[in-house]
Amino acid sequence: RAKELGGDRFKVFTDRMLDQALHKMSLERDMRLGIDNDEFFLVYQPVIDMRDRSLVGFEALARWQHPERGVLSPYEFIALAEETGLIFDLGSRMLHAACKTLAAWRSELPESERFFVSVNLSGKQFSNHELLEQVRSILHETGVPATQIKLEITETTIMEDAEHAVEKLRRLKNLGITISIDDFGTGYSSMSYLQQFPLDNLKIDLSFVRLMEVSPENKEIVKAIVSLAHTLGLEVVAEGVESEAQEQTLRALGCEYAQGFLYDQPLTVKEAKALMVRSLKISERLPAQG
Ligand code: C2E
Ligand code: MG
Ligand code: MG
Ligand code: MG
Repeated sequence: RAKELGGDRFKVFTDRMLDQALHKMSLERDMRLGIDNDEFFLVYQPVIDMRDRSLVGFEALARWQHPERGVLSPYEFIALAEETGLIFDLGSRMLHAACKTLAAWRSELPESERFFVSVNLSGKQFSNHELLEQVRSILHETGVPATQIKLEITETTIMEDAEHAVEKLRRLKNLGITISIDDFGTGYSSMSYLQQFPLDNLKIDLSFVRLMEVSPENKEIVKAIVSLAHTLGLEVVAEGVESEAQEQTLRALGCEYAQGFLYDQPLTVKEAKALMVRSLKISERLPAQG
């Protein structure tokens, strides 16, 4: 009887594994087709200056318009894209798409040059030895200045191959690109390493922003991250800001920039452009600074 039960359990287990394997295979097949059919696109989440809530740029976030399953989030496909190597193709397409959008904005709205677009790089993309040449050729082809592009690389990716990362980052920075360390706080950075990396921004992972109000200890952690960043000469971006209370706390801690549903969801290209137009009009009306 025990044996039978155990057998059943084993069967349930293998059925689920089989389901998962089949799901993965069909997702991988769909992804290959989807790349060919141009089903992947970017949405743009505004990044704002916490001091006056003005727009400073956008983070480009990947989406997949799946023919049967609707719009899928990166949590549903980036990991598999990494595993299968499809991330190389997908990633360079996303960077290309972001630069093409920027080029269009620059020609339709020249003042838009003051807003940056930030693109996420996965670990495999970052380690790829062709990355630098790829970035260089995309910038060249689209005519977008490197200074308008930020690349977001997660803390974990940078730490995984710290020695190569320093050199890689230095080369990207030499092109004029700005570097953000993404999802900060979720990895295990060694402070002595962190100091060596040529970085510009540090993005506090949204899990910390969320936890901040749960206990005073968590607020102290965020405070420590902000002060660490400032010691290293980095500006801080908080992600996932959803409430005025979170905004106030982060502002009081000296955090410079933020993104989150309190300000805006990720926007379509058209919506993002409309937001730039509005924000340029508002800043025109403000007296000149300084
Ligand atoms: P991330 O880079 O940390 O991006 C922030 C995520 O938080 C985004 O999720 C964004 O939509 C979400 N978010 C923004 N504000 C709020 C908020 O107020 N509350 C909550 N709950 N969430 C908020 P998304 O778009 O699902 O992207 C998830 C992750 O997928 C990104 O995390 C990034 O690591 C990765 N990703 C997105 N696009 C790309 C891409 O083109 N290439 C690569 N390699 N990874 C990407
Ligand atoms: Mg990011
Ligand atoms: Mg992030
Ligand atoms: Mg994150």
